[in-house]
Amino acid sequence: DLEMNLPEVITRALATASLPKRPQFGHKGTFGHALVFGGSKPFVGAPIYSAHTAFHCGVGLSTLVIPEEVYPVIASQNQTALVRTLPSESGHFTGAGVEEALFEKVTAVAIGPGMGRFDQGPELIRDIIGHLDEQPVVIDADGLFHVKDQLELLDRYKGPVILTPHPGEMATLTGRSVAEVEADRLDIAQSFASEHNVNLVLKGHRTIVATPHGTWVNPLGNDALAKGGSGDVLTGMVTAFLAQGAAPDDAMRAAVYLHAASGEQAAIDCSHYGVTPDDIIASSRKVLKQLE
Ligand code: AMP
Ligand code: MG
Repeated sequence: DLEMNLPEVITRALATASLPKRPQFGHKGTFGHALVFGGSKPFVGAPIYSAHTAFHCGVGLSTLVIPEEVYPVIASQNQTALVRTLPSESGHFTGAGVEEALFEKVTAVAIGPGMGRFDQGPELIRDIIGHLDEQPVVIDADGLFHVKDQLELLDRYKGPVILTPHPGEMATLTGRSVAEVEADRLDIAQSFASEHNVNLVLKGHRTIVATPHGTWVNPLGNDALAKGGSGDVLTGMVTAFLAQGAAPDDAMRAAVYLHAASGEQAAIDCSHYGVTPDDIIASSRKVLKQLE
C-alpha cells in the first residue's frame, strides 16, 4: 500500500507539537522519573550521558542503575542522577538483584547504554520487563543484542516498547547485513515495527521513526553527531519525554528532531570536529528554548 510507504517529514512544527506539555505548577513528581539500566567497566560514560540528558530534557528525577563494581567511578562523575547498584562480576551485571523497589514511581525505563555483552544479559532484560507495570521501556545499544533472540517478549509486554538501533544494531536484530539495512531503511523499519508491534528509531543520517501505524523521517543532523556517546544522549531524550507522559510516537519525533538540531547547533558553536556528547546536551537546552 503506497500511502503506508511514504514517511512524513518531522518539521520543526511537528517536533514542537510532539513535546510533552509542562503544567506550570507541576512539582518534580509531575514530571516523571526515568530509570536507566546500563554501564560496565569499559563503558562508564554511556549511562551517565543518558541519565544526565534526561535531566536536561525535563524529567523530575533520573536514576542510574549500574553494576556495583563501577559505582565509585560513575557516582563521582555524576551529580544529577540518583544512583543504585546491582550485583556485578568482571565489571558487568550478573543478572541478579532486580526487585520491585527499584521501580517505585518510575514512569519510563531505559535499558542498555554501556551495559555491554554478558551471558546473563537476556535473563536480566526479561527480569526487568517482568517487573514493570505498563511503563514505556526503551531498549538501546547492547540491550538490543540481549533482546534479539527473544523478540516475542516485546510483543507480549503490555506497555509501549521503543527500540533505538543504529544500522549495525538493526542488522543484529533482523539477521541481515548492515549493507542490506542501509539499502532499504524505510521498508525494514516499517516491517519490523509492524511485525513485532514495537516503536522503532532507526538511527543514522535521515533517522526513521516507525510505529505499527506510521513512519516519519528526520531531515536534520550531520557528522558532528557521529561520535561515541551521541546515541546515549538520544536515549536520554526519548526516555525523558516518555517519562513526562508523551506517547511513544510523540516522544520519538521530539527526541530525534531535538537531538539532530542540537548536533547542528553544537557544530556551529564548537566546529563539526569538536562536538562532544556534552555539547549536544548543552545545545539541547538552547534548542528547547526555541521550541517551547
Ligand atoms: P550511536 O551510534 O548509538 O552512538 O548513535 C549515533 C547518533 O548520532 C544517532 O542518533 C545517529 O542518527 C546520529 N548520527 C550519527 N552520524 C550522523 C550523521 N552523519 N547525520 C545525522 N545523524 C547522525
Ligand atoms: Mg549507541
